[in-house]
Amino acid sequence: MSKFHVYDPARAERILRVLRSAGIQYREKAHFIYVPCPFHGGRSLGFWIHKSGRRAKCWKCEHETDWNGYADKMGLRRIDDLDDEDAGYSMRALDQLLDGGGDEDEEELAPVALPNGMRSWTGSWRRLRANFLTELGVFRWYDDISRYERILFPLTFQHEVVGWQAGRGNPKGRYWKRDPKYRASEPFPSKYTFFGLDQVRRTRALVLVEGIYDCLRLWQNGIPAWANLGAKSVWTAEKAELVRGRTRLELLVTAFDVDSDGKRATQMVREDLGDDLRILRARLPKDTDGDYHDVGSSPQRWVRGLRTDMRDAGWDGRFRLYPLVRSYNEQRFRRLR
Ligand SMILES: [Zn+2]
Repeated sequence: MSKFHVYDPARAERILRVLRSAGIQYREKAHFIYVPCPFHGGRSLGFWIHKSGRRAKCWKCEHETDWNGYADKMGLRRIDDLDDEDAGYSMRALDQLLDGGGDEDEEELAPVALPNGMRSWTGSWRRLRANFLTELGVFRWYDDISRYERILFPLTFQHEVVGWQAGRGNPKGRYWKRDPKYRASEPFPSKYTFFGLDQVRRTRALVLVEGIYDCLRLWQNGIPAWANLGAKSVWTAEKAELVRGRTRLELLVTAFDVDSDGKRATQMVREDLGDDLRILRARLPKDTDGDYHDVGSSPQRWVRGLRTDMRDAGWDGRFRLYPLVRSYNEQRFRRLR
């Protein structure tokens, strides 16, 4: 089946954008766009293009084609290129958010506008409550082209933003198969920092998990945690030193995923830090198919149980969470929210 056959408002918007940026005069009606005909060279808007791109025709010379025929004649992008260009739109919008907007030295920050087609959303994400996410200071947005939710987690090291990871929400949008589920900054600082390093500090007990989502799930339940940002490949001597040198940890509970990488990471942590502090391993629960959960997807009752186990192991139950980002970046994210 031709890819032209579905009427898609997002594609119509792409076609209009191309016409606008090429400076082509047009008039828009419900399902049609009228432009001058390039085939007989008329100046009146007598050439119609269906917004799906699948049909186009001149009233006067009766030349009949589709968007690609028109685009070829005009030297514009064909429909596949337009569609490809918009896969990843949401991520490019992210780049604009992170790179653009304002001079750090200016006292009054220049307002950062959401790129066209994007708006913020304030809902929950997976098992994380909307209010929790808002208090944490994450940035959430939705774009009308890819049509799914995105969420941005800044990564800090010594209170400076050194990277970020963006997750994708509901997998219903048009490009969800092409757009990555997660995208991270380049470089991604996973070899020298933990997610949560600046947010959970001066704690005597800590759970070490693999991913950001796992970590957030524990925070939401009042459990101090850091994310290693991966398993064995990103457990490094620098990070072991960070735990030894920068914390007052007495108890470290590892809760890596139950797979070979996670098991190896668990061993490595024990080898590197076992002489310095007490290390326990959390037993992750299994789902109904007998597969192991990760921390993020574990049942609520297991998460509560983990908290109880840590109290039993001597943790005083204190948990204080510092803001996700301070500094200029935080102000920028606040403004965007
Ligand atoms: Zn014509």
